[in-house]
Parts: sequence; structure tokens; C-alpha cells
Amino acid sequence: MHVIDAGDPQSYDVAYPDRCLARFQCRRCDWQTNWIAIDTITEARRGVPCPACSEAAPLFIPLRGEYFDAFVAGTESTEFRPYGPRWNERTCPRFRPVLLSRGYSAAHRRLGLVVDFEISREPCTRDDWRACYGAQIVDVACIWIQTNEAER
Ligand SMILES: [Zn+2]
Repeated sequence: MHVIDAGDPQSYDVAYPDRCLARFQCRRCDWQTNWIAIDTITEARRGVPCPACSEAAPLFIPLRGEYFDAFVAGTESTEFRPYGPRWNERTCPRFRPVLLSRGYSAAHRRLGLVVDFEISREPCTRDDWRACYGAQIVDVACIWIQTNEAER
């Protein structure tokens, strides 16, 4: 996908003071991203893979219904998983296509992209994390994902 809009972060989002923001669109299928924080304009010009046209197998991420719906609506952007052999910086590199699934149902899926990755223990204090994984403090893979309304 190529850049269709780029901007100075200060004018959009103070959360990314050192990075630029860009939006991308695929020339083949018109799949479009929202604003993605990128390190440099040069990185933006290299483009990012289109999740719909990419030959690479997407990372499959089953989500509980409420989280899937929030990702599609754009109100949720980060997925937390136990850091380890399955969820790490190698399996979740930036700009890897992902396939979000509402549960394991094939009926509700959305393509997306990993837009950032970080290891943190902070999510262990969240109620929703504790409900799934218990009270132990562990490394958590924080995977920033962007998807859109486009059906697969
Ligand atoms: Zn495409």
C-alpha cells in the first residue's frame, strides 16, 4: 500500500511526538488504513503490505466477540497476549497482516495489520487481563492492530 496522506504528528496526536503519521491505500484493492505512526517519512514511502493482497499468511487472532466488535469499530487498538513462543516480536512484526476472528467462527473475520509491538508488564494490573490469565505478573505482548470495516 502506498501513502495517501501524511502529516506532522503535532497536528494530529500528541501521543506520537517523535514519529510521523501516514495513511495508506492499496492500488489493487483499495484497502485503506487509518493513521499509522511511523518512524520516518522514508519508511512511509517504502509502503506497507496490503493485508488483502499479501501472499504471506496472516497472523490468526481469535478474539472474544466484544473485543472483535471494538476493533472493527475502531474503539480498541491493542491486543494483550502472554509473551512467549507464540506471541513475540518475531511472530508479530510491524506491518504483518493479521486475520481477526470473532471467536473461532469463520463468519466474522477482518483483515488488519500489526502497527506496533511492545513488551510490558503493565497490562497485568488490568481487570480484563486478570480475568483471563490470573494475578501473576508476567511479560505481556502488546500488539497494536489496525483493521477497518471492509469485509474479507
Ligand atoms: Zn490490496
